[in-house]
Amino acid sequence: MQIIGPNTQMMNVNPAIAFQLTSRLYSTFVLPKRIYAIYFGQADIAWAQAEFNKVALHPNGREAANNCASAETCWGGLSEIDLKGNAILLMALRSPALKDSNHTSGTIESHEYSHAIQGSQFIGTAKEASAYCCTKAYMPWWLVEGQAEFSQAAAIFYSSFADYSLERKNDVGGLKGDSAITDAWLETFLKPAASSDWSKYDNWRLYDVGFLASEILASLKGPEGVMQLFRDVATGKSYEEAFKGIYGISWSEAVPIMAKTISAMIRL
Ligand SMILES: [Zn+2]
Repeated sequence: MQIIGPNTQMMNVNPAIAFQLTSRLYSTFVLPKRIYAIYFGQADIAWAQAEFNKVALHPNGREAANNCASAETCWGGLSEIDLKGNAILLMALRSPALKDSNHTSGTIESHEYSHAIQGSQFIGTAKEASAYCCTKAYMPWWLVEGQAEFSQAAAIFYSSFADYSLERKNDVGGLKGDSAITDAWLETFLKPAASSDWSKYDNWRLYDVGFLASEILASLKGPEGVMQLFRDVATGKSYEEAFKGIYGISWSEAVPIMAKTISAMIRL
């Protein structure tokens, strides 16, 4: 269901396509029944917050404003589920003069909807109380954002490897030539001592390194293997147990291999 602000001009003419394409990646999993897709520009922040409050489980009252801090950066997105099987997506749009491909191609819809699918795996489990908004409570943060970034590229640009590659380059291009991103740095980033360590990094590393790590995992067992990690953790396994079950080697053994692979990719 598209819920569009009274002063907001849509940029993506058919967002339903993005949701359908993303669903195809995860068709064997629990998918949201209904999608509340709330679109708003800077003039509709209060309106968007009121719409979000109608359907969100625990709104804090700042969700719309946080995703539309200024005319230039009014382009954020947020995804939650309501635990009744519905997705709630809040998507900010800049003025039409500042159109960008993330808001016209369907990638923002795909990204946010991927988060809703991640969260939906937790419905009815002991972990649903946190997972409605925040699967990062249970999963590696780079996997949450990286899988969503990978999904938006794979779902929206499924028909052209060149287009997929361009989207990938836009996502991960900043890593290229960054001498700080060594094998050792990557190993620590993928498997830090504590989850809270991820908050100390440049936030975009969750997205770009996360994209490459998720792409590796999807290359091994398909996009569904990555979503199975969420389902297995939701239903009681630790991340390490889930990983071993799906990929056949321990997470500790996999980390240096993945770090080496990512390191080689960003030096190509
Ligand atoms: Zn995200």
